[in-house]
Amino acid sequence: MHVAQILAGPSMSASFEYFPPRTEAGWGALFATIAECEPLAPSFVSVTYGAGGSTRAQTHDLVVRLRRDTSLDPMPHLTCVGHSAAEIDGILARYAEAGVSNVLALRGDPQPGGAAGDFAHAADLVTAIQRFNDAGRHGAGTRFGVAVAGFPEGHPQTPNTLVQMDHLKAKVDAGADAIITQLFFDNHAFHDWRERCELAGIRVPIVAGIMPVTSLSGLRRMADLAAGTRYPAKLLRALARAGNDDEAVARVGTHWATEQCRDLIDAGVAGVHFYTLNKSASTRKIYETLGARTSAQLRPG
Ligand code: FAD
Repeated sequence: MHVAQILAGPSMSASFEYFPPRTEAGWGALFATIAECEPLAPSFVSVTYGAGGSTRAQTHDLVVRLRRDTSLDPMPHLTCVGHSAAEIDGILARYAEAGVSNVLALRGDPQPGGAAGDFAHAADLVTAIQRFNDAGRHGAGTRFGVAVAGFPEGHPQTPNTLVQMDHLKAKVDAGADAIITQLFFDNHAFHDWRERCELAGIRVPIVAGIMPVTSLSGLRRMADLAAGTRYPAKLLRALARAGNDDEAVARVGTHWATEQCRDLIDAGVAGVHFYTLNKSASTRKIYETLGARTSAQLRPG
């Protein structure tokens, strides 16, 4: 289903992010996770794309398998850095043929020594996807829905947050239907940024990115990948209490994420996107604690 339609639905959207595994065992484990998550009936699931080139083909394979073997609606991430326009065109054509409805359009991070490619920014990719749509190449009467990334706590490359908002607006003006945010642990930052988006004239639905902390090593890795994310003292204090007890760390992280979700749901957010790291336990626990058996029950229409 087109992402605009999903997010306009009566109940709140909830979605899960997966990454393509690098090993056979990883694929087995991922499909076990997916089987555990399927009963939660997410509005869609997204599949990451290796801007560095390492897992690009696997993104397509995972998306096709999700469509063929599950009831889930996959949204591939697509990064444009290092790609030619013809390559992007080919990827879109393959997704259209596979019946994919939506794409998360990203720039990605340039790799040292990597080719520049034909696209400087994600807004250029959004334009290319809309051109593909306009040419009727997705199929009769259908268009790719397009989501883009948003950064409530700022993107490290653009310290000027007013200019950064202009860049986000440019993606929406180029035809983005929705925004999915970088993970954050401080809801105040999200609420304030959402207001600033509104003031900037951004009217598309915004989906909040939530990552339950499940290990201290994972938290450290994320601090690198999601540079600029703030870690509230209250969360760090609770994690410090858990110390080296991995289960206690996961309980603290899941509890924190549950409270974030409760607040976001009450605040009328359009959707929540769970960075699952290919695991299901925390997400399932969050639903259980919030009293929802399925995504539609998180905030029924
Ligand atoms: P852009 O919107 O192009 O912005 C990138 C930077 O350029 C920003 O600092 C922006 O302010 C600046 N900028 C934009 N337009 C202009 C302009 N006209 N002039 C000057 N500066 C400009 N990475 C992956 O490799 N694979 C993934 O699967 C992936 N999934 C992600 C999913 C989500 C929800 C998020 C939030 C991020 C994801 N990323 C992924 C990371 C993302 O690719 C990087 O954070 C990247 O640096 C920014 O991508 P973007 O699409 O926001 O780029």
